Amino acid sequence: MQISVPRRALVQQLAVIGGLAALLPSRSQSAEPARLDVKDPAAVALGYVENANRVDANKYPSYLKGSNCENCLQLQGTPGNNYRPCSLFQGKLVSVSGWCSGWAAEM
Ligand code: SF4
Repeated sequence: MQISVPRRALVQQLAVIGGLAALLPSRSQSAEPARLDVKDPAAVALGYVENANRVDANKYPSYLKGSNCENCLQLQGTPGNNYRPCSLFQGKLVSVSGWCSGWAAEM
């Protein structure tokens, strides 16, 4: 048995399916970057911690009480998210409650 589909209808249906597929995010686009591991060498080098209350003030005398990623100039991304991109750690997310020695006051 052979089913006959008009060529024009088939092309229109394929165009619709292709258009819908283009609207869907690809797997790589929807994947969220990994969170920065405090043991990552770059994190260790800058003394990154996930909770600014754990900063060793003796080791980092530049630490200002109350400073954290959320009020740092380097923080990027969407306010309200607990983990956001940081310009010093490309491709990773940092905790908004965190801190590192790269902290700079927001202007
Ligand atoms: S540079 Fe700022 S936002 Fe980035 S990890 Fe350090 S304190 Fe947090």
